[in-house]
Amino acid sequence: FEHGDHPLLAGLNDPQRAAVTHAGAPLLVVAGAGSGKTRVLTRRIAWLIQERKAHPGSILAITFTNKAAAEMKERVEELVGKRARIMWVSTFHSACVRILRKEIDRVGFKSNFSIYDAADSKRLMTIVLRDLELDPKRYQPNAVLNWVSDQKNELRDAEDATKEARNSFEEAYAKAFSAYQRRLREANALDFDDLIMTTVHLLQAFPDVRENYRRRFRHVLVDEYQDTNHAQYSLIQQLCGVSMEEPETEVAGEQVAPSELMVVGDADQSIYAFRGADIRNILDFEQDFPDATTILLEQNYRSTQTILTAANSVIGNNRSRKPKRLWSEAGEGERIVGYVSDDEHDEARFVSEEIDTLVDAHGVRPADVAVFYRTNAQSRVFEEVFIRTGQPYKVVGGVRFYERREVRDALAYLRMLVNTADEISLRRVLNTPKRGIGERAEACVAALADRDRITFWDALTRAAEAPGLATRSLKNIEAFVAMVQELQSMVAADERPDVILESVLERSGLLAELEASDDPQDGTRVENLAELVAVAREFAEDPQPGPSADPAEVEAGTVAVGLGDFLERVALVADADQIPDTPDGDDSGVVTLMTLHTAKGLEFPVVFLTGLEDGVFPHQRSLGDQPELEEERRLAYVGLTRAQQRLYVSRALVRSAWGAPSHNPASRFLDELPVDLVDWRRTAAEQTRWTRPDVTGGYGSTGLGSPTAAGRRNFSSAALRADAASKAKPAREIPSLSPGDRVVHDSFGMGTVVAVDGVAEKSVASIDFGSDGVKRLLLRYAPVEKL
Ligand code: ATP
Ligand code: MG
Repeated sequence: FEHGDHPLLAGLNDPQRAAVTHAGAPLLVVAGAGSGKTRVLTRRIAWLIQERKAHPGSILAITFTNKAAAEMKERVEELVGKRARIMWVSTFHSACVRILRKEIDRVGFKSNFSIYDAADSKRLMTIVLRDLELDPKRYQPNAVLNWVSDQKNELRDAEDATKEARNSFEEAYAKAFSAYQRRLREANALDFDDLIMTTVHLLQAFPDVRENYRRRFRHVLVDEYQDTNHAQYSLIQQLCGVSMEEPETEVAGEQVAPSELMVVGDADQSIYAFRGADIRNILDFEQDFPDATTILLEQNYRSTQTILTAANSVIGNNRSRKPKRLWSEAGEGERIVGYVSDDEHDEARFVSEEIDTLVDAHGVRPADVAVFYRTNAQSRVFEEVFIRTGQPYKVVGGVRFYERREVRDALAYLRMLVNTADEISLRRVLNTPKRGIGERAEACVAALADRDRITFWDALTRAAEAPGLATRSLKNIEAFVAMVQELQSMVAADERPDVILESVLERSGLLAELEASDDPQDGTRVENLAELVAVAREFAEDPQPGPSADPAEVEAGTVAVGLGDFLERVALVADADQIPDTPDGDDSGVVTLMTLHTAKGLEFPVVFLTGLEDGVFPHQRSLGDQPELEEERRLAYVGLTRAQQRLYVSRALVRSAWGAPSHNPASRFLDELPVDLVDWRRTAAEQTRWTRPDVTGGYGSTGLGSPTAAGRRNFSSAALRADAASKAKPAREIPSLSPGDRVVHDSFGMGTVVAVDGVAEKSVASIDFGSDGVKRLLLRYAPVEKL
């Protein structure tokens, strides 16, 4: 039929219109970056509601971040009005939590389950491996967890893994997997991958539940489809009612006709293979859904032709891909600017000065500018320069607020108040701050729990029965239990989350301990806790139900917003959710810094793509591996195609944050850019004879080449210190770290490795502990653990 000039189709080209108005069979929209996939998906939702009279509650749209979800929802509301509010627009994880809060009792969990993040999972796995007496050198918690995560992404549970184990190594892994799942269950907790897997298993096992959701979601739409993994793929299949194994037939006995499915994606932007994302999900779509319709979008509306040609040229070097045409009407635009810097400081200085020029002479706002790098650790140098020049900036990702030790402590209190079965949280706070319940006492209680097959919390309440428990410890435990029970009564009385949190901080002694300390770091910790209270207060005053709250109930005002919602919101915050809002007013002066992974789906008028060196980007570990190298190249493609008008590419001849300087060759991705498109402000050849009359800052007095020399000096003095120290104390196992690794330190908490120098016993790592600053630590002695 003829849609003529329907307002919802305004500003769309023909294939885009076709995608918006398509009805019936599963629809795949495949297209290069910036061709309007997300725009089409958003318009389609509005179209479904307005023209096809779909009930907003019958729509489920999946985005890659909570923030993207919020934006999409807002956009649809603008188009069709407030009634759109009750549709589900969320990430896979949030959608699953929402389903699980309602249905999880079917599989033996309680609806107040905790969500364990990476650090919780690691703690639990460490306990599991110790209990199983597996050699910690051979079986590292993270390695086992990665393996477990791969299994879950493939929907293999512990039983499957046990059956399929092919050697003693895998048998041990499977054993750890089983024990880990058992502990999670006992704690009434799910880890991130469980959220998806459990939902899929639940839908598979309970036809009535499945049917209920199928009846409800008549329309399922998925953005960034190229990054779905097998579990997510199955979830979509379950919700839409098309059997994966026998695509032609509907699942036997099913009452509900399949829902309409639309997925949009770009195989060239698949960058999450390490999380199990399977590019085949998009490549095989037509096979999996035999009556599927595919629509290609080829016009790019985001970037200049120069930027597009560059991006197309780079991605063209990937062998395993379908070629595609992508063109723009935006005109040639500016040439790409290239810069070869002496080192990373010089690179950051170049970026900063260039931003000044753009702002002063070209009407660019700082908020129009994004600086991308391969790993979080690279942000540090940019931050230093921006702090020096007074340029406001925002780093997306990195050491996150919610990962700080004191914040985790406070949240652990809240979590165990809501769910006392959550043993990890409970044991975390049991003696934090120190209240005379030592390891021995804890072990006695744990033994009682084991003996009587009760939870750790129940054992605490019956501590008097614990054999071998000292009277003193018993007293302290009783005081702890009384405190927890009192706090719990606040939760039961539906006190506001911020009020409960403040009581926790007071009653637990957490705040008093930090306030009494003269350690300046503890001052920062107090501030962080104050910030957490502020977050909770804001939440309480503008009651936002957690991501799992059903929008229909929220609308009807029947959903209670309590501590559980607050915790859920906090648990599902992701790096990309920290991206500043669409800049206007106050935010327009802020430059955004982020890793390339976080940049997916976004666009900026000006983009700096930095650290283009072989070994940095592409990442060191991809250099010898074709599939990994191709994934790095897709990441480059994502980065390049974020730029709308101006694109900068830069690399450093020497990169040495604090340790040994490394001389990296130019990134091969630079060689893949068409020569005539890049205007090299400065090349490697110019470096040796280069002087800048206009620059006084930077390395002024020490002269050119000093960064390298300084680096060497640093290196040797570090080695000397390391050497001296190594004679002093006995050896312990040295964690093997590389820049970008996440670590946890006994007193500084979570950090990111910025640089490592020296080898073996002499290795010294510079670790960024966020508000605690960057510390240089001799790894042989530092209480650091790799996460
Ligand atoms: P990515 O692959 O990076 O996720 P995408 O395909 O989702 O990109 P969008 O973000 O939807 O692309 O669109 C890119 C830009 O082009 C946006 O600013 C969007 O508003 C604009 N755009 C899309 N289609 C049109 C059109 N027909 N006319 C004008 N502008 C358009
Ligand atoms: Mg998009």
